Amino acid sequence: MIKALGIFLLLFGLPNLAYGVEASPRPGGIAMIDIGGVDMPAPDTAFNEKPLLVLPRDGRWLAVVGIPLDAAPGELQITVAGKELAVAVEPHAYREQRIRVENQSFVTQRQQQLDRIFAERRIIDGALNNFRDAALRDLSLAAPLPGSRSPSFGYRRFFNDQPRSPHKGMDIAGREGDPIATPRDGVVAATGDYFFNGNTVLLDHGQGFVTMYCHLSEILVKEGQELVEGDVLGRVGSTGRVTGPHLHFGTYLNGTAVDPAIFLPSAESR
Ligand code: ZN
Repeated sequence: MIKALGIFLLLFGLPNLAYGVEASPRPGGIAMIDIGGVDMPAPDTAFNEKPLLVLPRDGRWLAVVGIPLDAAPGELQITVAGKELAVAVEPHAYREQRIRVENQSFVTQRQQQLDRIFAERRIIDGALNNFRDAALRDLSLAAPLPGSRSPSFGYRRFFNDQPRSPHKGMDIAGREGDPIATPRDGVVAATGDYFFNGNTVLLDHGQGFVTMYCHLSEILVKEGQELVEGDVLGRVGSTGRVTGPHLHFGTYLNGTAVDPAIFLPSAESR
């Protein structure tokens, strides 16, 4: 028995250390809320009327809340089994980023472009808000690309001095054509060539955990396709609103963009 345990630890490490993902309850972060013991079925949970991802840890059910970037510090309310529950949100100051782009149509759009953007927004929002039942034990992701990571998630952006939505992902350095690896098993929720994001893949990992890959030179997967960790889903490019080739990598929970760094192995451990 002791020997078997020793072999287990040798092969798999200490079980508690296997949980890489920890709470970071700030705007753009995640809160992890104990909602009861696993001896009972997990209660229904929701935030902004969207169901929350729930996973087991140490004999308890944890609800994982993606906290919106525009959430005010203080607390937000989630629903657990029909009752309101306050979740603490810590303050966090995100930096300002000023970007100059040559093509003015990426800053101010004509009506025809707005119609296209609106139609694409519906497809993207549909993929981000789809809740597919799947048993999850953790939320860790492998790096989709080995390049250096810009810490620019959450930056408040100005394009040619005009305020635009904050940066809702992580930019990873890469050369045109570099392969992008699926960071975790999932199903392709959508692909397309979108106005801002260029060639894009959205992957559904279950329970509203969705990852997004933008500006690809090439998409190598199709909607509905099941992928396993390590599959090449596309290639790095510079399509859409960009200044050069890189991967824009987004991670979403309950339809909300959260910092991809939360789910990735630290840069030092690669
Ligand atoms: Zn980006």
